[in-house]
Amino acid sequence: MLDTRELGRRPGSQRDVVRTVPAPAELGIEVLRVPEGSPVELDLRLEAVMEGVLVSGSASAELVGECARCLEPIQEMTQVRFQELFVYDDVRHDPQDAELDDEVSRLEDDLLDLEPLLRDAVVLALPFRPLCEEGCPGLCIECGARLADDPEHAHDEPIDPRWASLTALQDVVPHDPSTTQE
Ligand SMILES: [Zn+2]
Ligand SMILES: [Zn+2]
Repeated sequence: MLDTRELGRRPGSQRDVVRTVPAPAELGIEVLRVPEGSPVELDLRLEAVMEGVLVSGSASAELVGECARCLEPIQEMTQVRFQELFVYDDVRHDPQDAELDDEVSRLEDDLLDLEPLLRDAVVLALPFRPLCEEGCPGLCIECGARLADDPEHAHDEPIDPRWASLTALQDVVPHDPSTTQE
């Protein structure tokens, strides 16, 4: 919540706000999100206009998630920009416009709730399928190895050398007493 009373409802008056706030719960999407409570840096300008307060600026936060192809953890910074007009809650509005009115952000007692705006801006900025790197080749469909770690990866040979020793063990394990006597 930001207090806009300092602006005195004088059109043209403005205030810059730089503030770090803890991230609200469920900021982002399942596969890529801002951890709850982690710092979100806000860099805002509040500007009084006739009908309310215009908010513009940016928010920076750390995102965590996992690659949609190889499941590698992703950790990166994101910065989103936004601009929104918050209308004074006592500004009279045309009842004909009731439908439109629902979509307008409103100040409550000259307090401004930034959370819905932040939430929308972050979700819009996120990729639908986050990747650890552009063109991540994903996982090997045969053995599940992460192909980005091993681009030469192939299964032309019937047995991957890394598994050869295991296979050798398997050949020995089912001891058949009748064949072990020389
Ligand atoms: Zn990946
Ligand atoms: Zn493989």
